[in-house]
Amino acid sequence: MRAAKKEREAYWNPMMETLPLEKLRELQVKKFKKILEWAYKRSKFHRRLYQEAGLKPGDIKSYEDVVKVPKVEKAMMRDIQRKDPFPYGDALCVPLEEVTEFRQTSGTTGTPVYQPDTWQDWEWWSEAWAYLLYAQGYRKTDRVFLPFGYNVFVAFWAGHYAAEKIGCEVIPGGVLDTEARILKIQELRANAMMATPTYVLGMADTAKKKLGIDPARDLTIRKITCAGEPGASILSTKQRMEKAWGAKVYDHIGATEIGAWGFECIAQPGGLHVNDALFLIQLEDIETGEIIEEPGRKGKIVITALDRMAQPCIRFDSKDVAEWAKDPCPCGRTFRLIKGGVVGRADDITKVKGVLIAPSAIEEVVRSIKGLCDEFEVLVTKKGDLDDITLKIEILPDAEGNREAILSQLKDQLRLKTNLGYNIEVHPYNSLPRYEIKAKRFKDLRKHG
Ligand SMILES: [Zn+2]
Repeated sequence: MRAAKKEREAYWNPMMETLPLEKLRELQVKKFKKILEWAYKRSKFHRRLYQEAGLKPGDIKSYEDVVKVPKVEKAMMRDIQRKDPFPYGDALCVPLEEVTEFRQTSGTTGTPVYQPDTWQDWEWWSEAWAYLLYAQGYRKTDRVFLPFGYNVFVAFWAGHYAAEKIGCEVIPGGVLDTEARILKIQELRANAMMATPTYVLGMADTAKKKLGIDPARDLTIRKITCAGEPGASILSTKQRMEKAWGAKVYDHIGATEIGAWGFECIAQPGGLHVNDALFLIQLEDIETGEIIEEPGRKGKIVITALDRMAQPCIRFDSKDVAEWAKDPCPCGRTFRLIKGGVVGRADDITKVKGVLIAPSAIEEVVRSIKGLCDEFEVLVTKKGDLDDITLKIEILPDAEGNREAILSQLKDQLRLKTNLGYNIEVHPYNSLPRYEIKAKRFKDLRKHG
């Protein structure tokens, strides 16, 4: 009896989160067929896409058949928005008056994509977030602070609702500035918060420099949920955050067009669970398109949100790159694990001087060196026919004495971890841009001349 109760308390949905993979798969196929048929019947965009491929919903009978369904890319979602009904376009599967939520993508390039959701979809959003927050230890007794701008980006909106759904007490830190947010956390003794890795580090910095508050010593935040950037899955960045706040830091991954599809659990297994109850996540070989089931092989993540109705997300090409982990997670969930989180974007992984490089590899190095500030910027340019890569960094004021040693360590580590030589520019402390939502630290100027 007691063991059963303990198990019930460990998971948001004990039945789904411990279901054997083959059962989960059965359920995924069943739901996949349903959402495919829904989109085929109601969305002109999807019907056109499938008809052009000569595909009818009835053609999908098994898990193996799923790959026959054409993928959808972000650029396609942008194009449909020129069509009716305004402003979403013809992938909308419900009457316009059913839409209750407007969001738009916060991508760092291109025109934003608008995303409609019904109230039922919004419930589904918060359900997905409830899985992840519960897995990170959020309970009724928690007082959660949300230091983010509540606006058109989905960001932590669903985190807010999910925390309430679990029964936490939620404090919206919307329009407050960073100092006011820190003081509010102190005043109310909040014990959990959600923010981007950049902002988590920036807040700690502001607390110390401007307010003389050491978050680890003077504040009560003990768990932090990150999103928006890969930092919480990059070990050196995670450790910096955990040390600065004296808190556990957990990662989560999602996207406006997809939903919250992956999360780190309290066991911190060095990777993220995919939510196999609400999504069908497949890894695909970048060159051949073959589905990858075995661990240790990198592939592009293709995602179906199995229950999202207003504007379905079916076989969405996320362009994120990941690989399956070898071992199951000690937390006991049967939801599969991706190793080390998302390791890069198929688009961002670029060749510099003939070497393949992921921006996260540079972050890993910069954040692992003591005496360097958390902010940095990478510029890739062309000098004549040759690629040129510049790394801008800041040295912490109290580490200035070690400048030469820090720079030589940085150069060595960069060469070792990324196989490239860099021009290093040291900028005055506090002069590089600080970001609250999505950091733009990697700038490839070769394409624009
Ligand atoms: Zn786990």
